[in-house]
Amino acid sequence: MMTLAALSLMLAGPTAAATPPAAVLLRPAQVFDGSDPHPHRGWEVLVQGDHIAAVGPHLTAPQGARVIDLPGDTLMPGMIEGHSHLFLHPYDETSWDDQVLHEPLALRTARAVVHARDTLMAGFTTERDLGTEGAGYADVGLKQAIDQGIVPGPRLLVATRAIVAEGAYGPKGFEPGVDIPQGAQEVSGVDEMTRAARDQVAAGADVVKMYADYHYQSGEPSRPTLSEAELAAGAAVAHDAGRIAAVHSVTPEGMRRAIAAGVDTIEHGYGGTPEIFKAMHDHGIGYCTTLAASDAVARYRGWDGTEPAPSSVEENRHAFRLAMAADVPICMGGDVGVFAHGENWREMELMQAAGMPAAQVMIAATSGNAHIFHIADTVGAVKPGLLADLVAVAGDPTADVAAVREVRLVMKGGAIVRGPGAE
Ligand SMILES: [Zn+2]
Repeated sequence: MMTLAALSLMLAGPTAAATPPAAVLLRPAQVFDGSDPHPHRGWEVLVQGDHIAAVGPHLTAPQGARVIDLPGDTLMPGMIEGHSHLFLHPYDETSWDDQVLHEPLALRTARAVVHARDTLMAGFTTERDLGTEGAGYADVGLKQAIDQGIVPGPRLLVATRAIVAEGAYGPKGFEPGVDIPQGAQEVSGVDEMTRAARDQVAAGADVVKMYADYHYQSGEPSRPTLSEAELAAGAAVAHDAGRIAAVHSVTPEGMRRAIAAGVDTIEHGYGGTPEIFKAMHDHGIGYCTTLAASDAVARYRGWDGTEPAPSSVEENRHAFRLAMAADVPICMGGDVGVFAHGENWREMELMQAAGMPAAQVMIAATSGNAHIFHIADTVGAVKPGLLADLVAVAGDPTADVAAVREVRLVMKGGAIVRGPGAE
């Protein structure tokens, strides 16, 4: 039999555990605020409840506040992964086809729960997940589980099933005419696009993800798939609903259509030309380069990482440099899932290696992504009023982004999930 006290304790339990201490004063060596390329030495950050209350030198901790010293560390905004697939795991473990066709939904979801935890522990407190790749709407449930504090993970922006042109995705290579489960929802025509995008938004999509090009048979180059009118219809549904539209595209024609359709981000963009990137700049369209995906796939095919790199890797670096030269808003998104979740820093290191200054990579991974995804009023910077999503790393990531591998503390919404005093 349960006493009344025990019962009230039990009822209070989950809420009490989720409530962060009244105030926490963080005292690192320096603060990278997410926008200024120069870190602020000697700054401190005061967290009250789930928000950042004050930032600057010589803050006074209120009565009862917990003080955490982080000597030698840089405190910065929780990082934002721009392009992930939590329902995929590295292709050298299991091919994409086999994941989509042979792994039960519960298995894929169990993996995704672990992937979400690994991502958060690596200091990524927000993540845009661009499609479950055959796992239906399971990302919506995972997002709810994280938001309800049932499992740890980043704040998610999810795309659910994603949308492709009829017959233009995979898995492929079976008896023609036999229905094979696909990695995304297929549409033909503007009406079907509109219906699919509305269904996905109604089911919980924060992002409408579309494929402007793809290869029709393996070994073929990518070719345009969805028409400009279809892409525009999907983007219009997204924007009417206050969501964003993301487009996979690797061909100049696919990218041209996506730009004309008014989408918010273009993913991969390997075949982008100076003219295409100028148009992206002029329209303020974000570019997720996914250098880590082409790097990982080349390694799975036997590349040992030595130069000269395979042409696929070189093509990706070239597009990234063209985009930087055109001053396109650069999104930090690696297509993680193709490689291991929790190693999201791989994209950042490759951006730096391809010529982007470390501080600019750090800006892209924090306030840059927050602006591109329209969430800068809540996350992506260290400033009063924003959610207390904060990460401390050893050393100075604005000098070398490899510092983000050495995570010392992760705080999400004021609660410490990794480091001194983790709950
Ligand atoms: Zn992707």
